[in-house]
Amino acid sequence: MLTSIVGTNWGDEGKGRMVDLLSADYEIVVRYQGGNNAGHTIVNDKGKFIMNLLPSGILRDETVNVLGPGIVIDLEHLYGEVQRLQQAGIAVTPEHLRISDRATICLPYHKLLDGLEEDRLGDKKFGSTRRGISPVYADKYMKKTLRMGDLLHWDSLRARLEGLIEWKNLTVEKGYGHAPVQTEEILAWLEQFGKPFLPHICDTTEFLGNAVENGKSILFEAQLGALRDIDFGIYPYTSASTTLAAYAPIGAGIPFARLDESIGIMKAYSSCVGEGPFTCELFGEEAEQLRAAGGEYGAATGRPRRVGGFDVVASRYGAKMQGCSYIALTKLDVLSYLKEIPVCVAYELDGRRIDSFPASIDQLEAAKPVYEYLPGFACDISACRTAEDLPAAALDYIRTIEKAVGCPIKYVSVGAERDAYVTLF
Ligand code: GDP
Ligand code: MG
Repeated sequence: MLTSIVGTNWGDEGKGRMVDLLSADYEIVVRYQGGNNAGHTIVNDKGKFIMNLLPSGILRDETVNVLGPGIVIDLEHLYGEVQRLQQAGIAVTPEHLRISDRATICLPYHKLLDGLEEDRLGDKKFGSTRRGISPVYADKYMKKTLRMGDLLHWDSLRARLEGLIEWKNLTVEKGYGHAPVQTEEILAWLEQFGKPFLPHICDTTEFLGNAVENGKSILFEAQLGALRDIDFGIYPYTSASTTLAAYAPIGAGIPFARLDESIGIMKAYSSCVGEGPFTCELFGEEAEQLRAAGGEYGAATGRPRRVGGFDVVASRYGAKMQGCSYIALTKLDVLSYLKEIPVCVAYELDGRRIDSFPASIDQLEAAKPVYEYLPGFACDISACRTAEDLPAAALDYIRTIEKAVGCPIKYVSVGAERDAYVTLF
């Protein structure tokens, strides 16, 4: 079984939580795109963890975790993340964590450039996580950065790095007027944070290719959501990578494999980190209450997330782009405090009602939400474990979303803990 777990919205739908739950049925979990700008929160019997780079299967001893070629790796961050887990008693061994020799290294100057550009933009900033993700993906496509496999050829590393840095300083020093990047510093950084991972580096194409041939089950864990995809998201307010399920086999290193299932993680309401159009956005008291109820503060950055009601237009588009087989609807319990639940059922553009998600940023910026209110369940549902336990109004809400989005809802989560969920079929 080859399954992807992907976000249908703006990210933070609860993917980490669903990977933690569903990985019990898989031998291997792979992260296939993005970098440490992810913040996947997991609450289980081992404690509470926030994963940025590591696959959420790392908390299961028996699961092999893979960072695929589609990933960008800030080695210092990875080092810290592994240290934190080990301090919490979670082993991270070369058998347990495998890193693709083709994965791109996110260097300290990528982070530096991310910050320099956000600062230059001032109040026009993108709301980047400032973790170097866009700069390093840009360099990947410029064919001017290092890959994990380069660490295995230490002798030729210096010469390669000198060439890269000479080019990079045209931007850092001559462009931004910042002190130049020094080769020695980057080499020392690679020595300190890269060398410990040498035993983890492998050819994931061979490893996962063999796994597929031997009938092993693989879970592909995506970061962010469909609306942040570089090609199909709200460009330019997207991430720099492909957040879609269709990219999973490529980003994992096995482009010849086919997914059996794509599970869309969809939140029972909307949230968005950073700038850009967010049509269903709620403001004032209504937003404050929803943000507080959902604890909507970024796991990676701590920033307050913008919030809105469930967005039918965006979610239907997201589920379609993700090719969802079915959906896990998360955080339904958060809506318990509401007597009436706001749902953005359509957009209004130039005085007309529209149901399809616009590709143009100008249209998205001009679009207004059309809100309707559904009856709330107005009671605590966090202890519900079966469909029969759920109040009728909660089930009605689930069925309304299912119909509007056009994709079956299989799981509904009602709490952050691993077992706080209901299976509908
Ligand atoms: P991800 O980036 O998609 O993995 O999602 P995040 O971890 O950034 O955000 C989801 C947040 O909601 C985390 O704090 C989770 O612990 C929490 N969470 C996940 N599922 C549920 C749920 O069903 N109910 C509640 N109340 N919280 C949840
Ligand atoms: Mg997150």
